[in-house]
Amino acid sequence: MSIISDQKGMVVWLYGLSGAGKTTISLLLKQKLENDGLFVICLDGDELRSGINKDLTFTENDREENIRRAAEIARLMLLNNIITICSFITPLQKHRALAAGIIGESYAEVFIECPLDVCQTRDVKGLYKKAQANQITHFTGISSEFEIPANPELIIHTATETPVECMEKVYRYIEPLLKGI
Ligand code: ADP
Repeated sequence: MSIISDQKGMVVWLYGLSGAGKTTISLLLKQKLENDGLFVICLDGDELRSGINKDLTFTENDREENIRRAAEIARLMLLNNIITICSFITPLQKHRALAAGIIGESYAEVFIECPLDVCQTRDVKGLYKKAQANQITHFTGISSEFEIPANPELIIHTATETPVECMEKVYRYIEPLLKGI
């Protein structure tokens, strides 16, 4: 019997500012879990927005719809015993509650924390520069709100630790959940 057929699904939901490190950590975590013989997929905000969600803008309503669709996809993966790592800014508490509610059990929420000025310095996609020049509107942290979670389930500080250290913290957190659920 293969290891994969024994696996239980779960959803790991990474949220935080653009450039905080969600995608970087998700890819490292995927690799690590695959080394354990698990089947993992990544759902990334940028990828969904360039395809299935390309009809959506960054208004509050559309952001909510973006999260709703992502969470519904993740739920379908979960039903198929797949481990899904989601990387979405998920700016408001109500968005996180929406995702948590849709997915239900076997869900871990991780705040990928990085100060705004560090994200701006990194400016991986050049978006902060554009947002500051008003070439992009509704940009999280600049012209659109990001609500700092009051009681995050798990918080990872990417400005003070390496990507691998950050990934390992997430891994250690979800490891018992993967074994226990
Ligand atoms: P997001 O998906 O949150 O928009 P990305 O993963 O695309 O962010 O970009 C984060 C950038 O920050 C990458 O260039 C990455 O190499 C860098 N970085 C520096 N330190 C860390 C860390 N500890 N964790 C994750 N990314 C980090």
